[in-house]
Amino acid sequence: MSECNHDCSSCGETCEKRDFLATPKDSTKIGKMIAVMSGKGGVGKSMITDILAVNALRKGYKTAILDADVTGPSVPKAFGITEKAYGNSDGTTIYPVESRQGIKIMSMNLLLSDDGDPVVWRGPVISGAVKQFYTDVLWENVDYMFVDMPPGTGDVPLTVFQSLPIDGIVVVTTPQDLVSMIVEKAVRMAEMMNVKIYGIIENMSYISCPHCGEKIYPYGKSKLNEVAANFNIPVLGALPIDEELSSLVDKGEIESVGDYLAEATEALK
Ligand code: ADP
Repeated sequence: MSECNHDCSSCGETCEKRDFLATPKDSTKIGKMIAVMSGKGGVGKSMITDILAVNALRKGYKTAILDADVTGPSVPKAFGITEKAYGNSDGTTIYPVESRQGIKIMSMNLLLSDDGDPVVWRGPVISGAVKQFYTDVLWENVDYMFVDMPPGTGDVPLTVFQSLPIDGIVVVTTPQDLVSMIVEKAVRMAEMMNVKIYGIIENMSYISCPHCGEKIYPYGKSKLNEVAANFNIPVLGALPIDEELSSLVDKGEIESVGDYLAEATEALK
């Protein structure tokens, strides 16, 4: 069928590769959409999403973050955002909140009256909300959008890949993570969803000795290069465990982060 409206009952055909992409606002314009994934929570995926967005902004790109980690939305806090998102009077459009330096952000915590309120919703409702973060939010003039995915390869990541025009993924792992398995799952999902894998970033890779600068590997030497070579995907960088990073997140000052992940940022072009 030449004009697919994504409703298979309208033409009677069941296409092998159906296109489920959601329709955004007319004036939404997003250049590149990059999803940041991890195998489990707490590996620094959100912080790395934030750093990649800050780097893109510093390079002069109009940048946005869609926080799809609905039950653990930490992006607004890292940017020190306390205001809430608002919509137009007929409720058809939500406006993203801008960080101090101008990164457009949408996150569940920008909609909850109290940041401490838990999101106790079933999977399909959460997936619906994430889809609305794309369809109902006005994303005007965005060069790079980073999507902070919930951990794993479940319901919400599936919705994101089916409904949002994701260009590619960045996988975040830590040395104690089961790197090979995490990478394999991400690679397989990306293949199934037909999206590019930009590469892997290893977080909490090492600690730099504060006295002599020597690198200490608390989890043993990284196997990342080996695993990346096995799956034929690039290593985009490694971040140390650094108290400065966690304190910038805690203080809401991630936009003051030093020069981290420059190589990863180049690779996303
Ligand atoms: P995830 O999104 O994978 O659940 P977060 O980005 O929320 O993980 O990070 C979990 C916690 O670990 C946060 O408090 C964050 O500031 C901290 N953290 C992440 N990476 C580092 C690092 N390299 N050094 C120090 N603290 C880190």
